[in-house]
Amino acid sequence: MSIATIEVNLLALKHNINLCKAQAPNCQLAAVVKANAYGHGMIEVARFLQGDIDYLAVARLSEALQLRCAGVTAPIIILAGFFHHDNLSLLERYALQPVIHCPEQIAMLHKLKTTRPLTVWFKLDTGMHRLGFRAEDAINYFQQLQQCASVAKPINLISHFCNADLLDQPDTVSQIAVFDDFISALGDRSCIGLQSLAASGGQLAWSASYRDVIRPGLALYGVSPFSYHEIGKGTGAQLGLQPVMTLKSELIAIRKQLKGEGIGYGQIWHSQRDTQIGVVAMGYGDGYPRNIPCGTPVLINGQRKPIVGRVAMDMIMVDLGPDSQYRIGDDVIFWNHDLPVEEIADLTGISAYELLTRLTSRAQIVYKKCI
Ligand SMILES: *Cc1c(COP(=O)(O)O)cnc(C)c1O
Repeated sequence: MSIATIEVNLLALKHNINLCKAQAPNCQLAAVVKANAYGHGMIEVARFLQGDIDYLAVARLSEALQLRCAGVTAPIIILAGFFHHDNLSLLERYALQPVIHCPEQIAMLHKLKTTRPLTVWFKLDTGMHRLGFRAEDAINYFQQLQQCASVAKPINLISHFCNADLLDQPDTVSQIAVFDDFISALGDRSCIGLQSLAASGGQLAWSASYRDVIRPGLALYGVSPFSYHEIGKGTGAQLGLQPVMTLKSELIAIRKQLKGEGIGYGQIWHSQRDTQIGVVAMGYGDGYPRNIPCGTPVLINGQRKPIVGRVAMDMIMVDLGPDSQYRIGDDVIFWNHDLPVEEIADLTGISAYELLTRLTSRAQIVYKKCI
């Protein structure tokens, strides 16, 4: 039995899906479940969401195959596409929809013989400059892709924002313009299938980006993609979302600590008073970051207490204070609806995306259907 626990509230997940749908009522929804559903457990989350969504989206072929092996039948988009020729037979066999972002992929598709054409997503680089065809080359490559017999027509169109979380930056507006210019330049609208631009940031702040399919990840899990200091948008709750994850463990020892004594590896913290220290079964081996600053809060019986000393692989120390009434076995919460992961991200300088995604398999995931 694990003691570090990732509690996943499935009703909150359902609430968030419904909110996404209400915000973009005419859109289809691709639920992004890559990276183990941002730490929430990919297969269970996918199974739970399957009936409520139009697509699942993952980053890797391996993730898509895990979903298929678990019996998940929803259409799956592979956001990073495929990399090798021998991936193609798997795409066909498991009806997976890759993103096509480079000429090498088009060359492989040209040679491919399929019994059933593959549904694909043509990736336009509208300004992220990570994956995708540059706007000035895109028409040419789009037409090459159209000539592949192995590719289903019309071809879907996808792009991704680099700064949708920065509300006062012009990048998102100009990326939308590049997207629309490409569509106009193609001339014939009927050669484009579905269009998809918005991830969580787009969905929550840029309604001009909605198009046919929205692709929220972080928002589904009830977490805000914006800065913690963005008024009205800094936490999932402020956006009307419900945080899905509670990360918690238990006090496994309570110890006396005298004024002036150091604690833990490197003795990086010394107590200013006689106090009591709680030792918690959570560490970087469970995915809680080692580099967090002393003073980062946890919740014990609803009260905030500071982490002191260096986070170890298996344990974290907390200053319970001289008058502590806590007991071994008390729950210690690292984030939940009362201690938002966005606040921990802000305090530690580690984004909420990374805090969620770095949790390891030693932390046990438990699913609950109540608030
Ligand atoms: C990860 C990812 C998403 C989801 O992003 P969120 O910010 O978590 O909503 C959507 N689209 C692409 C291409 C991605 O890589």
